[in-house]
Amino acid sequence: MSSQIPACLVVLGRQGSGKGTQSLLLCEKFGLVHVSTGDLLREAAESNSPLGLRVKLVMDSGELVSDDTMCEILAERVAQADVQTRGVLLDGFPRTVVQAERLADIVEQVHGVINLDVPIAEVTKRMLLRNRADDTEESIARRLALYEEQTEPLLSWYEDASIVKTVDGLGSEDEVFKRLATAVEEIFDASQVSLRVLLKQEKS
Ligand code: AMP
Repeated sequence: MSSQIPACLVVLGRQGSGKGTQSLLLCEKFGLVHVSTGDLLREAAESNSPLGLRVKLVMDSGELVSDDTMCEILAERVAQADVQTRGVLLDGFPRTVVQAERLADIVEQVHGVINLDVPIAEVTKRMLLRNRADDTEESIARRLALYEEQTEPLLSWYEDASIVKTVDGLGSEDEVFKRLATAVEEIFDASQVSLRVLLKQEKS
């Protein structure tokens, strides 16, 4: 059953686009709950449950967790009280068109989709600079190819629903954050999400 939550935003962006950091900052500013599916899955993988072990195998291989498993974990998280009262910013979900279709059943409305746009050459450079063990040139290229293949089609899927805002992700963290915050405000204005009113009511 779908639930009506105060706000549901989706942030899309290639690995290395700064999506994780910027998502956290946006949640802080707008009072939304940050739900990162990468974090949810890493948590699940740490538990030694059968599901956790399966998830760990898939994540280690660099592939995507199955849509069924992912949607079940996500639906459970969205049903929790914090998301229901404050609204959510989804970071890393949906990753496929099937997941986007399922999301439409999990929440009543997706208010906006932000596409944080950083070109492939730039994200590759940034990821190589991070110097993480799993960030070899080859594995970076594979993950980016997977993104183009699975997640890029989401943009046209959502663009049909005309709720996508593409934000230029080049520049300082501060500059990019200002652009993103403006995009979120425009989304809320357009969809008449009275999030700030809601927050004020909660405080008073
Ligand atoms: P991330 O931290 O977002 O890069 O996610 C790390 C890993 O978790 C990915 O490489 C996938 O294996 C898995 N993952 C995260 N989000 C999803 C999703 N929406 N669908 C399937 N797998 C996911």
